[in-house]
Amino acid sequence: MINIKNLNKIYKSKKKNNCHALKDIDLTLPSKGLVFVLGKSGSGKSTLLNLIGGLDNVTSGEIIIDDNNILKMSEAKFADYRNEYIGFIFQDYHLIDELTVYENIKLSLVLKNDQEESLIKEALLKVGLEGYDNRYPNELSGGERQRVAIARAIVKRPHIILADEPTGNLDNKTATSIIKLLKKLSKECLILIVSHNTIDAYTYADRIIELSSGQIVSDYTRNPEYSDDIIFDHEILYYPQDHLLTDDDVEHINDRIEHHQLRKVVKVKNKFIETEKIEEDNNHIGIKKRKLSIKDASFLSFKFLKSKLVRIFTSSIMVSMIMVILSLAQTIINFDADEVIKNKMFEYNQSSIVLEKTITKENQSLLDGNYHTRIEEDDVQTFYDKGYKGNIYEVFNYTVPVISTQHQAGLGTGHMSKGIFLSESLGTIIVDEEFLVKKYGSIKYIAKADTDHPLGIIITDYIADAILATHPKYLGKKYEDILGKFMVSTVTTTRVIISGIIDTGYRTRYENLIDLYKQGKLNNISNFYNSGNTEIIEFMNEIYNSLGYTYSLNPNFKNDFIGNTDIEVMWYHSIGVGKNNNFRYITGPYVINNKENKYDISGNDVYMSYTKYNEFFGTNYTPDTLNKFVPHDMTFSTYDYSDVNYENPNLTITVHIKGLINQTALFVTSDELYTEFSKYSLMTTGLYFDNVDNLSLILDTANELNYAHQNVMLEGVHTMTKAVDVFIPIFELINIVLCLGVIFILMSFSMKMVKDKLHEIGILKALGTKNFSVMLIFGLQVILIAAATSVLATLGYLVFIDLANDVLIASLRELAPSHIVLDLHFLTFKPTIALMDSLVVFGLSILSLVIPMIKIHNIKPVKIIKSKE
Ligand code: ADP
Ligand code: MG
Repeated sequence: MINIKNLNKIYKSKKKNNCHALKDIDLTLPSKGLVFVLGKSGSGKSTLLNLIGGLDNVTSGEIIIDDNNILKMSEAKFADYRNEYIGFIFQDYHLIDELTVYENIKLSLVLKNDQEESLIKEALLKVGLEGYDNRYPNELSGGERQRVAIARAIVKRPHIILADEPTGNLDNKTATSIIKLLKKLSKECLILIVSHNTIDAYTYADRIIELSSGQIVSDYTRNPEYSDDIIFDHEILYYPQDHLLTDDDVEHINDRIEHHQLRKVVKVKNKFIETEKIEEDNNHIGIKKRKLSIKDASFLSFKFLKSKLVRIFTSSIMVSMIMVILSLAQTIINFDADEVIKNKMFEYNQSSIVLEKTITKENQSLLDGNYHTRIEEDDVQTFYDKGYKGNIYEVFNYTVPVISTQHQAGLGTGHMSKGIFLSESLGTIIVDEEFLVKKYGSIKYIAKADTDHPLGIIITDYIADAILATHPKYLGKKYEDILGKFMVSTVTTTRVIISGIIDTGYRTRYENLIDLYKQGKLNNISNFYNSGNTEIIEFMNEIYNSLGYTYSLNPNFKNDFIGNTDIEVMWYHSIGVGKNNNFRYITGPYVINNKENKYDISGNDVYMSYTKYNEFFGTNYTPDTLNKFVPHDMTFSTYDYSDVNYENPNLTITVHIKGLINQTALFVTSDELYTEFSKYSLMTTGLYFDNVDNLSLILDTANELNYAHQNVMLEGVHTMTKAVDVFIPIFELINIVLCLGVIFILMSFSMKMVKDKLHEIGILKALGTKNFSVMLIFGLQVILIAAATSVLATLGYLVFIDLANDVLIASLRELAPSHIVLDLHFLTFKPTIALMDSLVVFGLSILSLVIPMIKIHNIKPVKIIKSKE
């Protein structure tokens, strides 16, 4: 039974004229029967029903239904209450258009976690709609729709059915049949009908309550003793007070009088009598907790989505496109320069790198020249400090002269000369056998002498071939002919002994190139290189990585190099003497100190080679006329190789030429002057790194320390990766903008989705669906979009990544010295990024649901029901 005490409902209006729709209503309703609520429009009938049904908030008062004070219930429990207890029938039916008759009815049961088919069939039978299962609401007449609504209300066997003008939209005949149906059902439960139809009320109601201005003005219950007919009994006529006599009645009565069968007329009671207080019947019924299953939520979700396929498709495509861009941007942001460079190195069989110290900052790019200088003492330590892990070996200056003629330009490195051969080795590295085994797999000597010789170097078969192919002295000779021989450079005036030649197998690896070389087709190797011939590129890289170096197995090689010969300092600078037109210079001058105190010199005193003196001053001293020399001062400057116009002397010195001597060195100097000169001499010019795992670290440090390297490919890739680095903050910004775009699209999608379905949301809530379940239905839609988007975005990412790579490489191409970078893969499909972006889509989808979900939460079903009125 329903117990309403002191119930008030005030509609608060913005314009301050609040509407007091229900005033202090006290009402008790039984558990069964058909109760009519009558009253003029605006008297508060609907308000009363809505409050009992929990569709709106009560202002004050109590509604107690079977011991449950529904106003003290939590939102969720209230939903359960509605679900369990109440069936609604509205004037406008409020069916869900997307669902069939069967599904609409089933919805009631689904929310109750009860899906027994027989119940639905039974309900359909009761309302006379057998066989209508698969029709949609818009395929039904008004009366039929109302029957579906009734079936939906009764199928779950509610305790109370609230029907607000259920026949308002129906023709008389249909209306009567509906009322009759409700009358029948009221044997089982309480049915509260709001109606304007007084005749119906008097005909069918068990009780009639009349409202006026929010108050109960009358409350009548059908008189149980009342009978509608005129009844004769023992010559007494019982005559109902409000019975209107028909012609038949009059005739009948007169007939009885005539036959003396009527003795007395008794006026009997009203058809309806004032309602007395009804007995409390405490049939407390507990409320079970309900939850919409995921399966059912998905079903509804899908049904609601079906009509929105175009919007879903466009939203999904739009978001996917953005996500593809996001993935690409993400790939760029996460681009691992080391990985790219390493892959490329791996492709070209490179497992090490040599850096050479350049003279000036401006010259650090190896394309500007390969003028090298002595490494600084802390350089090696700096690489370790920056985090380099591996071994660093010193590389000594070019030690093996291959040809003595002027270098020809090749690859801009200055090293290339005849065809595929270098004019000099790239330097000497002091190693142990283990190093060579690691580098070449095993050490196979083609020829071997005393490899422990302090001046001994081991050369590769490539260097050996270079000497045999180009050195004037060894042209056409055999490997053995160069073994044990001193090699003296006129450029660097170093002196070493070739003590071993190792087989690197390069000739089999580059068979085609060797063939081309033999046919004389590789004289202009630059052309091949620039045309992107991968074999040449690989070959060149291998030369600069390993083939072009020479090795010494003697740890004291460096000391011997300097100490065991009278050539103390390798002089790599040009010396210019005089100024302007008097200017003359000699390549490869060198200085020795007064080691054995052979000469009496100090300070700026020097003894000078008479041949060099003749060259400078145009004299013609001979060994016999050296004593005729008159000592004098001479001022000269040294210049870097790069300073081709001799504009910036790095050393200007005035020496006192004390005498001329018969020797090859330019000067014999005092120890002090020797030290001064040494600063400008070259010793260790490069560093060899055997670990290329962290190349960008090496290359960045190299940049800071003015190192360059011979690997053109590497340089290009590194420059390009640096350029990509510059874009990373931009892409990060773009990513944020893109994410905002995604959230905007998803949000407007989900807002629209909820907005379009406000009516359905209201119905679901009226039927007792909890907020959580409604949110689930709509949340699932967005999750579905997110899933579709993720799939599309991943596919798009897969498809576009190569294109993006090509565009990126093409746009950075200018930065790289060669088109070898064209087949670079800066951007590759990264599953982690695809996965991460999918997560982002899901995250943003959920975020985009916040506002719509709040909206769902705040929807009062009553608003929806009103909106259609
Ligand atoms: P009935 O169903 O008897 O026609 P209602 O219960 O719908 O009447 O309305 C009772 C009174 O409350 C009316 O004066 C109506 O204007 C007012 N009312 C109903 N709903 C609202 C609302 N949402 N906001 C303000 N006033 C309302
Ligand atoms: Mg109404």
